[in-house]
Amino acid sequence: MRQQLQDAIDARNETLDRLRTEEVVRRRLNATILELRGNIRVFVREVEPAKVDYPDQGELDGGKEMAVHAPTTLSATGKERNEKHSYGFDRVFGPDATNMQVFEDCRELIQSVVDGYNVSILSYGQTGSGKTFGMSGPKGIIPCAIAMLLTEMQRLQEKGWEYRVEASFVEVYNETLNDLLGDAKTWDDNEDLTASVRPGGKRKEKHEIHHDSVTGKTTQAVQNVLDTAAKNRRVAATKANERSSRSHSVFILTLRGSCSATGESSEGVLNLVDLAGSERLKQSGAEGDRKKETQAINKSLSSLGDVIAALGSRKGDEGQSHIPYRNSKLTYLLQSSLGGTIAGKSSRTLMLLHLSPLQAHWQESRSSLLFGSKVHGTHIGTAKRK
Ligand code: ADP
Ligand code: MG
Repeated sequence: MRQQLQDAIDARNETLDRLRTEEVVRRRLNATILELRGNIRVFVREVEPAKVDYPDQGELDGGKEMAVHAPTTLSATGKERNEKHSYGFDRVFGPDATNMQVFEDCRELIQSVVDGYNVSILSYGQTGSGKTFGMSGPKGIIPCAIAMLLTEMQRLQEKGWEYRVEASFVEVYNETLNDLLGDAKTWDDNEDLTASVRPGGKRKEKHEIHHDSVTGKTTQAVQNVLDTAAKNRRVAATKANERSSRSHSVFILTLRGSCSATGESSEGVLNLVDLAGSERLKQSGAEGDRKKETQAINKSLSSLGDVIAALGSRKGDEGQSHIPYRNSKLTYLLQSSLGGTIAGKSSRTLMLLHLSPLQAHWQESRSSLLFGSKVHGTHIGTAKRK
C-alpha cells in the first residue's frame, strides 16, 4: 500500500510538472501571436448599413478592408462626383457583426493580462455609434472579459497559480478623475484621484475582490462593482445632461498572480475605456460648462492620438524619447497601458472604432476613420512581460 501511495504521489507530481510546462508553452505561444500582430491594433465596427463596401468580408481570417462612399456632389460644371475612400484596418466588422464576434477577436489580447501584460481596449466614435453597447451591453467586452478572466484564473489555480483581482471604475470628466465606485454626491469637490488609481499607486479607496475557489462569489463581487458604477453614472447624469457621452469611463482590472511551486509571479492590468463622443464640437458656439466640456474632450482625444503617434515614431532607445502622457488626464491615467514600455514592462492597445455611416454623419465618420488610420499606421516594438 505504501508503494502504491508513493506511485500515486509520483504520478500526480509528474502530471503537475507537465501541466506547468504546458502552461509556459501556452503563454509563450500567446505572446508570440500577439507580437506578430503588433501591439496596437484597430478594429472598425458599424452600426447601420449605408454606402459602404466590404471587399474581403468572408475571408477566413476576417475582413480587413472597407470603402466608404462619400455623398454624391455636383461639380462646377454640373457633373456628378462619386468619391470613394478605402481604408485598411486590423479587422473590419460589418453591421451584422455581434458583440460576441468582436469579443472573440479580442480574446487572446485579454488573455495576455493573466500572463502579466498591460492591455487597453478603447471604444472610439461619435455619440450613438455603439461604444457603450459594445463595451457594457449584452455580451459586451466588459462582461465577457470578466467571465473569461475568472475562468482562466480558475483554470490556472489547478496548475498552482493563485490570483488576486482588484477592480476600479473611474470617469474622466472635464480633466478630473471621479471614482465611479465612490459616492457620486462628493464628485464636485474636484479632488484629484489620478495618483491613487494608477497601477502601483496608493489607492485611497480599494475595491478588492479576493479570488478564492468560490467563483460564484467573485462573479457576484464583480457584478456589484458594475452595478455601483452604473448607479453613480445615473446620479451624475442628472447633474449634467448627457454626461456619459461627455466623459470617458475606464474600467480597470488588476490581476496579480503567483505560483509558489515555480516562484513565478505576474501583474497585468486591463483597461476597458468607453471614450467620450468624438463628434467635432465647435468651440465658438459653446459657452460656460459646455465650452469647458468641449475643450476637455478635444484635448484628451487629441492627446490620445498624439501619444499613440509618439509611441509609434520612437525607435529603439525607448527611455529617451518624450511621450506627452501628461497632456491630458486620460493619457496620464493610461500611460502604463498604451503600447509603450515603462520600467521594463510593455503593453498593448486595441482601438475599437465605431462608425455611424448615415449620409448625415459622413463628416464624422471620415474624421473617425482618419483618426483610426493614424493609430493603425503606427508600429510599436515587441511587448515584453515584466
Ligand atoms: P454610444 O455609446 O457610442 O453613444 P450606444 O452604445 O449608446 O452609443 O448606442 C446607441 C444606441 O444604439 C443604443 O440604444 C444601443 O443599444 C444601440 N446599438 C448600438 N450598437 C448596436 C448594435 N450593434 N446592435 C443593436 N443595437 C445597437
Ligand atoms: Mg455611450
